[in-house]
Amino acid sequence: MSQANPKILIADDDPLARLFVKNALEPAGMVVLEATGGKDALAKFEAIGPDLVILDIMMPDMDGYLTCSRIRSLPRGKRVPILVLTGLDDAQSIGQAYQHGATDFITKPVNATILCHHVRYMLRTNNVLHALIRSESRLELAQRIARIGNWDWNPKTNRFAMSNELCRLVGVRPQDFAGTFEAFLALVHADDRSMVTGALQKLVGQHTPCDIDHRIVLPNGTDFVIHLQAEGVREEETDEITVIGTAQDITERKQAERAIHQLAYYDSLTGLANRVLFKDRLSNALSYASRHHQHLATLFIDLDRFKIINDTLGHAAGDQLLVMIAERLRGALRVGDVHGGGGNAVARFGGDEFVVLLADARTPEHALRVARQLLALFAEPYQLAGQAVHSSVSIGIAMGEPDGRSAEDLLRDADIAMYEAKRAGRATAVFFDPCMHQRLKRDLAVEIALRQAIERHEFSLVYQPVIDLETGDVTAVEALLRWTHPELGEVQPTEFVPLAEETSLIVPIGEWVLRQACQHFVHWCHTLGDRAPPVLSVNMSRVQMLQADRLVAHVMAVLAETGMPANRLQLEITERELTKDPLSARALMHRLRTLGLRLALDDFGTGGSTLTCLRDHPFDLVKIDRSLLHGIADNPDVLAVVHATVTLIENLGMASVAEGVEDAAHIGILQSIGCRYAQGFLFALPMSAQAVAEMPAMAPTPVLPPPMLQAYPVSHRLS
Ligand code: C2E
Ligand code: MG
Ligand code: MG
Repeated sequence: MSQANPKILIADDDPLARLFVKNALEPAGMVVLEATGGKDALAKFEAIGPDLVILDIMMPDMDGYLTCSRIRSLPRGKRVPILVLTGLDDAQSIGQAYQHGATDFITKPVNATILCHHVRYMLRTNNVLHALIRSESRLELAQRIARIGNWDWNPKTNRFAMSNELCRLVGVRPQDFAGTFEAFLALVHADDRSMVTGALQKLVGQHTPCDIDHRIVLPNGTDFVIHLQAEGVREEETDEITVIGTAQDITERKQAERAIHQLAYYDSLTGLANRVLFKDRLSNALSYASRHHQHLATLFIDLDRFKIINDTLGHAAGDQLLVMIAERLRGALRVGDVHGGGGNAVARFGGDEFVVLLADARTPEHALRVARQLLALFAEPYQLAGQAVHSSVSIGIAMGEPDGRSAEDLLRDADIAMYEAKRAGRATAVFFDPCMHQRLKRDLAVEIALRQAIERHEFSLVYQPVIDLETGDVTAVEALLRWTHPELGEVQPTEFVPLAEETSLIVPIGEWVLRQACQHFVHWCHTLGDRAPPVLSVNMSRVQMLQADRLVAHVMAVLAETGMPANRLQLEITERELTKDPLSARALMHRLRTLGLRLALDDFGTGGSTLTCLRDHPFDLVKIDRSLLHGIADNPDVLAVVHATVTLIENLGMASVAEGVEDAAHIGILQSIGCRYAQGFLFALPMSAQAVAEMPAMAPTPVLPPPMLQAYPVSHRLS
């Protein structure tokens, strides 16, 4: 609508009357357009869209009433102000004019000034009305977009009115809504009604603003959540309180909140609680346990072979395995609310780590029982990528005492215990013990020191001879690693080798050992000639064996570099390593054999499937572990086992060495059961390379029977 020059359409068959109107309005800035009758008025209305229409009643072709109602039926004609010119005191025609949609009337004869004011007033009113309608429809649109409706309630009259949008939200047609508070309450979910009533009563009685979320039940039975806000307004005239409120559909917000909560507190892969939520639950359970002088247990669970499964079967299978683990945990434990001091909680801490809280584990025995059940449960194979996959777990257990220890402490203790379970050979459960913490600290210090030990020349080698019991000759020397740390002092291989293996530092260390030992050996050959020890035996770690290509390349390089004869170098491999991944171990051993090396099985009798090991791998020699020989002099059963073992080894075409012989009485026994070689403090302590070079002259080599010759081609007597 043009504000500056409003367009006025005058329809009158009398040209003088039209001229009159024109003269009355145009000086006021209005543009007056003329229509000669009803039909002309309709045509012009459509063509120009005037801001106001003035109609004469009496027109020959179509009277003012009909023209008026026709205009009203046009799209643009609904809101246009229409002024009807009627005869004086013609009440009937005035009434009729209104009925046909006239906005106002003016009686003839018309006064020009009055007409001009009248028209201007009508235009202004219409503008205000338009603005109001527009703002109302915008409000309605805004309400629809925000899914928000408004309502008001007069507690005294009980009149409850809802806006159109609110009606739409709650699924009732405005005309069907009874307009009382009870009618509104009937839409509220039955379980939420007392909350809604209570909040509104509080608002009316105590002027507390109402701000609540409650459910609405739709006619189809589904429900959704609305956020209801209301305030009381005191009406000035009546001094009564009217409650004015809004109601917003917050289903999406609630969903978003739920999604955010899920992301923040749950593991997306398994749906288990995550670290944050678990810690919170553990803290709550701990303070409950502390108040009630109770115990609880935390189990830290880690998969033993997850990396291998992930690497060989792919990440999708790895994920699937984690989901299966979570399902087994859920199935095995009563997972629930732990606040009351009962129930369990399970969480995934990321990777292949899971944590269990047994809130009602009053005793360590109880916790151990559950841990054992879990160990058995996880020992069952998993169907993954069409095959049965085995994956054990290691479990660390920490008991929460009523001593106010934090969740953080308890988790750390359980983690340390889990680490110990791994050390203890995996697939087992271990309780936390405070000395583990001390050991861990020392391990950490040792690890840091180990990293620098090679450059700082802190390693050295000692050699322990292996003796031929028949002749008393030295048939080999075994290189044993020694570490002297400036502050820690002498660190034993039993202490640092496992740590070096865990950190893979054993790979460069083992390479140093091989090179150094070969250099010593070649030096002995130069200085001692034929009197040098016939064979050099070097220990090999499983971690070195895992990097087969690197190991083979290094052995070849050292042989070439030092001039070490391959057939006088023997590598010792412990049995435990072979049982873990027998196929690749065998492949590696064949490659080493091709280089001409000898192979010895170390610590026989301490691993698992010993017989398979002997049968499947090409060893020259088997070293029987000290533990197997324990009690051989006084226990006939021990003797029988060792005897059978030696016989088996000999029958498979290998030689046997008894390790750790300290007692002279054992020599005769070993000989009587056919064990020809021995190593131990009885014959010689491990000695320096220099000491080996200075070993006194030895007797000429005795002639050995063929199998032994194959095992040790040359030997020298130790005086
Ligand atoms: P091992 O290969 O079985 O070595 C024999 C161990 O028994 C040596 O311990 C040796 O000193 C000890 N021993 C020898 N005779 C006797 C005896 O009569 N009585 C007792 N009680 N013990 C005896 P050591 O030097 O402490 O080495 C322990 C283990 O550390 C070795 O067991 C071996 O598994 C590992 N190790 C040592 N040096 C190396 C190395 O250079 N590389 C790797 N990978 N492991 C090594
Ligand atoms: Mg050894
Ligand atoms: Mg050994």
